Order: sequence, then C-alpha cells, then structure tokens
Amino acid sequence: MSTSFELLKKAVQENKLAHLLLLYGSGAKERFNTVLELAAMLNCIEDLKPCGECPACKKINSGSHPDIHCLQPFKTSIGIEQILALQEKIYRKIYEGKYRICLIDEADKLTPAAANALLKITEEPPAQTIIILSCGNIEAIIPTLQSRAQAIYLPSPKLTEWEDEDEAEAFLLSGGDPDLARKIQEYGVEKMKDLLQNYLDIIQTGDFLKVFALFPALEKEDYLTFIQALAVTVKDMICKGMLSPIFLSEIGETSELLKKQVNNRLALEVLALKHISYGGNRIG
Ligand SMILES: [Zn+2]
Repeated sequence: MSTSFELLKKAVQENKLAHLLLLYGSGAKERFNTVLELAAMLNCIEDLKPCGECPACKKINSGSHPDIHCLQPFKTSIGIEQILALQEKIYRKIYEGKYRICLIDEADKLTPAAANALLKITEEPPAQTIIILSCGNIEAIIPTLQSRAQAIYLPSPKLTEWEDEDEAEAFLLSGGDPDLARKIQEYGVEKMKDLLQNYLDIIQTGDFLKVFALFPALEKEDYLTFIQALAVTVKDMICKGMLSPIFLSEIGETSELLKKQVNNRLALEVLALKHISYGGNRIG
C-alpha cells in the first residue's frame, strides 16, 4: 500500500518511519525537493519542522549536510560498487544530524547485483538511517525491493500550481508529466506547439512531400521530447475518437527506435509517412 506525503509527515512526527522508503510519481525535481523536505523535517532542531532557518535546515537546503548522501546512476546504471561504497559510510557513526538520509535517485537503474546488495543492507538496517529510493514508475523497481520498502506516491503538481504561463502550457502539452514539461520548456513551448501542429496537419492532409521539410535538425534529446509530446497529443485525440489507436502503437515503436538509432530524423519521417498511409481521420 502506498502512503501519501501527508501520512509520511505523520509517521515522522510519531517516529514510525520505515528504514527503506520508495518515493515514486511526479517529476525528478519534485521528488528531489520532497526528499530534502523530509530530510529537513527529520533533522531540524526547531519545534516547527522544517523551519528552514536552523543550521541543519540550511545545510540540507544548500546540499552541504554531511549526513545526507545522494546516489545517482554512473553513466546508465547504479552498480554494486556504488552500493558497497555507500555501505562503507552508513554503518559509521552519524556526523551531526539526527538522521542520515541516503537518496538513491533513478532507482530503476539499479543493476540486479546492486539491488541485492541493497537488500542485504535492509536486512541489518544501520541505526538512524533512512534509505530512499526515488523513481518515476514504481513498476520499474524489482519486486523484492518493492516489497521491503514503504511506498510513497507523490502526485504531479496541479496545473494551477505552475507559476508562469510558459510553465503551465508546457505542463499541458506534457499531459501532466513534470519531467516532460521541463524538456518541452527547454526546447521552447511555442516551437514545440508549431512542430506538433505541422505534423498533425500533414498527416491529416496526406501531403507526404511536406514530410521531408517537417523536421528541423535537432538534438537527439529534442527528437525524443517531440515524440513523447506527440504521444500525449495522439492519445488525447484517440480518446476523443479523432484517431484510431493504431497511431499510438506506431509511436511506441518509433520511440524505441529513437533511443537506439542514430538517424532520428529519418525515423520520424518514416513514422509520419506511416501515419499518412493510415489517413489522418481514420477511426479504427
Ligand atoms: Zn530547521
């Protein structure tokens, strides 16, 4: 069973927090901020926690607290040597905090050996230590770790919580995925909207010659952002009965190709041609 952040706060107050937490949902930045807030709640020396002003809160917020550790994938995965290095540290005496917090970011990238080493640690949990696994999708975490951890679901921010218009619009285009919204913003919200609109126009009109002028030369990362945003738009159109579900399956296959293939532009042009061949309006 997943716990909400509010229930988590209660667990902190009542000193009933599990040794291993699994924080999932929302975006990477939101999860990171939540971990900082939790670390501050656990280490703050004032009555109203977190105060944001005491030495513990300040050190946590500036990333300089000696009892807060953050592990991230080295290249594409979190390997056993990283877990063993962490293990080295966490059985030692705590420096100055009340709690030691070990964040394992992108925990879906743990190798099986690393996950097993982590499981061993949880069998003999070090004192005053909380290990937090963070990932977008809980399904990507191996079941043995999932079953040991207290899962906490973090919902995405609401549309009204985004402060400026650009952010809110990127969030809309992302279908409520804060990570994708940030990537869309980096690329440019207006530029992304134009690209999506041009794509949809071409598959509706069937003007295949225009396909070859559709995509500008982009960074690999931006092609991936485009196809993720396209998937959101197409899904929405399928729900409204404007497109056949087959459009989405083609997008899924092309997404996989884009992650591997060097010529991303070509892969997207092929996708557009396939979509044209279905006829833009065909409802399956
Ligand atoms: Zn404080």
